[in-house]
Amino acid sequence: MAVQLKWPILGVVIPCVLIAILGYGSHYFVFSSRLEPSTQAWFQFSLTMVWVSYALAIIIPPGLPPHNFEPKHGEWRRWCKKCQNYKPERAHHCKTCNVCVLQMDHHCPWTYNCVGHRNMGHFLRFLAWVLWTTGFAMVQLALVALQYYHDRALPSYLVDKRELVAVVFLLPVDVFVFLTILVLAIRCLINWVGRGMSQIEVWEWERIEHQFHTERMWSQINRNYLTLHGRKMPQLTSWNHLAVLLQMDEREAIAHEAGTAPVDELVVPPNFTPDDLVFPYDLGMWNNLTAILGYPWAWLMPWSEPSSSGYHPAKTKYLEDDQLNLPWPPDGGHQEQTAFVRDTCTDDIELSDYRNISLLKKRLDPRSTMERKKWVNDVGERLDDYGVDLEAEDPENEVLLVASDNRMDSD
Ligand SMILES: [Zn+2]
Ligand SMILES: [Zn+2]
Repeated sequence: MAVQLKWPILGVVIPCVLIAILGYGSHYFVFSSRLEPSTQAWFQFSLTMVWVSYALAIIIPPGLPPHNFEPKHGEWRRWCKKCQNYKPERAHHCKTCNVCVLQMDHHCPWTYNCVGHRNMGHFLRFLAWVLWTTGFAMVQLALVALQYYHDRALPSYLVDKRELVAVVFLLPVDVFVFLTILVLAIRCLINWVGRGMSQIEVWEWERIEHQFHTERMWSQINRNYLTLHGRKMPQLTSWNHLAVLLQMDEREAIAHEAGTAPVDELVVPPNFTPDDLVFPYDLGMWNNLTAILGYPWAWLMPWSEPSSSGYHPAKTKYLEDDQLNLPWPPDGGHQEQTAFVRDTCTDDIELSDYRNISLLKKRLDPRSTMERKKWVNDVGERLDDYGVDLEAEDPENEVLLVASDNRMDSD
C-alpha cells in the first residue's frame, strides 16, 4: 500500500535513524566485544555500502526524456501537458518530482525520489545491501540471545546488562527491517525481473484483465490498432485455442474454424483471454535483469548503470500481430466516455461452469466499466497512489494526437 507522509523529510530521516541505530548500536554494544576484528571490519564495510547505495538511490535521478522528445513510428505519441513534451512509452509524470519519469515504477517516499529507469539498479543494490547487513546482524544477535538463554541461571552480577538490553531492543527491530525489506525485494524481483514490469504496469495489467471482456475496451483497442498500424486489427486467436486446432487433423481444423461464429461482427474477440496477452517490454528474465543492473561484473559496483537510454524501450521479438501488437497499455489508458458498453452475455451465461461464474463476477464488478483515473486494484490502490500526476496524464488528448499524427503521416 502506498505510503503518504505528512512531512516528506521524515521519509529519509526515519531510514537514516534506523540504519544508524541498528548498524552502530549493534557494533558498539554487542559486536565490538564478541566478534573477531576482521568480521567487525566486514560488517562495517557492508554498513558503509548501505549508506552509499542509499545515498545513490536518493540523489541519482530516475531518468527524464530529452527536450523535444520525438516518439518513433509504432510507439505511443503521448503528450504531457505539464512538460509540454512527448512522453516515451513507459514514462509517467510524477506529481511530486513534477517531471516525466522514464519507466516510472513509483515515487518512493523513503528515498524522496522516483524509482525509474536509471536508478532501479541503485534501489535494488540498496535493498540487497540492507538484506545482507541486517541478515548478518540478525544471526549474530540471535546467537547472543541464545547464549543468554543458555546462561539464564547465572547470577545477575555476572550478566552484562547493557549488552542484554541492547540485544533485547535491537533484535526485534532488526528482524522487522529484514522482513519488510525482504518482502519489498521479492516483489521488485518478481515484477521487474520475472515479468519485466514496473509496479505501475502491474497495476495497469490488473486493470486490463478486469476490463478485458468489455466492448468499450475493445472498441478503443481497435481504434488504436488502426491508428498505429494503419490497418484493421487482425482476428485474434488464443494460443490455447490454436494449440487445440494444431492437434486436430488439418481438414477437421478447417471445418471447425468455418463453423465458428462470424467473428467480424464481435467487438470482443472470442477465445482470446488475458492469458494470451503478451507484455511488450518483457525481454526474458536475464535481459530484464541486465536492463536494470548492466553487465554482471558490475552488478555490485555502486556506479553500475543500465546500458540503454530508456527513451525507446526495447520490445520482445515474440510480439506478433495475432497476439495484439500494441504498446502498453493496449487501450492507451483511454476509454471514451460516450462509448457504448454492452453487457450481452450476463443473461445467458450458464452457471454450471466454474469459469462462467468467475466471468459473471467480473461482469458484475463495478470496476469493469470504471475510468482509469478512478480504477482501484484488489488492494485499493489507484494510479495516483504510485505518484502519477493524473492531471498531466491526459489520455483524451493523447489519443487525439495519435489520430492527428497519423493523418499527417498519410498526407
Ligand atoms: Zn511530464
Ligand atoms: Zn517522483
